[in-house]
Amino acid sequence: MENITKWKILENYKTNQNIEFLERKQQSNQRIFKHLSHRVDYLNLKMSAIEVMFIMKARFDLLGLNGNRFGENVEKKCSFCSSNLIEDSFHLVGKCSKYRDLRMELLGKRELNEQEITDVLDGKKCSWKSLSQFIKKSLDIRKSLIG
Ligand SMILES: [Zn+2]
Repeated sequence: MENITKWKILENYKTNQNIEFLERKQQSNQRIFKHLSHRVDYLNLKMSAIEVMFIMKARFDLLGLNGNRFGENVEKKCSFCSSNLIEDSFHLVGKCSKYRDLRMELLGKRELNEQEITDVLDGKKCSWKSLSQFIKKSLDIRKSLIG
């Protein structure tokens, strides 16, 4: 039952995505996603569909962050720290100072370098469960900051 739910999510995910949207994402996020492994196993683990969803969204950079917004005049930089960097999965998982304590608690370091971010998103540096929790909790924090 659990696995069926996961595959349904995957299927919905694929069919609901606008092709142009995905193409633009691929162009704008080359820096992260070309480095990620495609042989990851998080769909086969005993996690809830929601937990899997957080990992998937982070890996595809579909977390609804500033950097995921389209349009010439939208603010793509992070509004939650002073780094002046684009707010994308990469920034949220490894860099943003807003989530330092959470990162320390769940991913074992206050800040991650590019290789470490890739490893985390590939499930190599910490458990999938920890990554999923980190994504969920950081999005909760982000939401509370927006108000
Ligand atoms: Zn930031």
